[in-house]
Amino acid sequence: MINLQGRIALVTGASQGIGRACALELARAGATVALAARNQARLEEVAAEIAAAGGQAAPFALDVASEESIKAGAKAVLDRFGKVEILVNNAGITRDGLMLRMKRADWDDVLGTNLTGAFLLTQALLSPMLKNRWGRIVNISSVVGRTGQAGQVNYAASKAGLIGITRSMAREFASRSITVNAVAPGYIETPMTAVLDDKQREAMMASIPLGRPGTDAEIAQAVTFLASDAAAYITGHVLDVNGGMFMGG
Ligand code: NAP
Repeated sequence: MINLQGRIALVTGASQGIGRACALELARAGATVALAARNQARLEEVAAEIAAAGGQAAPFALDVASEESIKAGAKAVLDRFGKVEILVNNAGITRDGLMLRMKRADWDDVLGTNLTGAFLLTQALLSPMLKNRWGRIVNISSVVGRTGQAGQVNYAASKAGLIGITRSMAREFASRSITVNAVAPGYIETPMTAVLDDKQREAMMASIPLGRPGTDAEIAQAVTFLASDAAAYITGHVLDVNGGMFMGG
C-alpha cells in the first residue's frame, strides 16, 4: 500500500477526468492535495468528495494558459502549504484539425496550455522543491506524443514536448532527489474522449490489444506509484498506460 502521508501534492486539471482521479488517489494514499483548474465550482466538488472520503484537499482556481494566473496560483498554494512535493502536470486540451488547415491560434492554444503551462508551473514551484531535496514531478503525456496522430499535430507536439522536458528536468534535478517522469495514457474514457464519434472509437478499440478503453483510475494508480517512495529509483521514464496500444519500450 502506497503511503504519501504528510506529502503536499498539486494536480492541474483536477476538476474532472484523469486529474480528478489522480487527486482522489493521491489523497487516498495520504497526501494533502492542491486542486488546480479553471472551474472553481467543480474543484470545490472534488475537494468535498476527497474530504468525504477522509482525505485533505483544497481548490485553487488557476489557468495554466496564463503566466499571471500560474504565478498567482503557485503563490497561493505556497502561502498555504509552504511547498509542493508532488506535482502532476495533467491539464490539457485538444484543438484537432488537419495540418493544411490548422489555425495558428489552435497551435498556440494547445502548446500554450499543454506544454508551456507545465513548464511555467513547474518553474514557479521549483525553488522550495529544490530546497526540500525531495520531489516528484509527473507529466501527463499521451500515446500520441510517441506515435503521432493525423489531425493532431499541435497536440502530438505538445505531448512529445512534455517527454522532452521530462527527461531534461530529470537530469537537472536528480542531484536533489527529485524524480521527473511522464505517464503516457492511451485511450481513456473521460470527458475529453466523450466527443469521439463511433468511427473514431471503433478505430481506437481495434488498436488496443487489451480490447477495452482504460479508466481514469488506472492512470491515477500509475501516477501515484511514480509519486511514491517505491519509485525512488525511476526518473526520466515514460510509463505507457495504454492497454498495449503502443509498445515502444
Ligand atoms: P478532460 O476530461 O478534458 O480534463 C481536462 C482537465 O484540464 C480539466 O480538469 C480542465 O479543467 C483542465 N484544464 C484545461 N485547460 C486548462 C487550463 N487552461 N488551466 C487549468 N486547467 C485546465 O481531459 P482528460 O481526458 O482527463 O485528460 C487529462 C490529461 O490527460 C490531458 O493532458 C490529456 O491530454 C491527457 N490524456 C488523455 C487521454 C484520454 O484518452 N482521455 C489520453 C492521453 C492523454 P477546467 O476546464 O476546469 O480548467
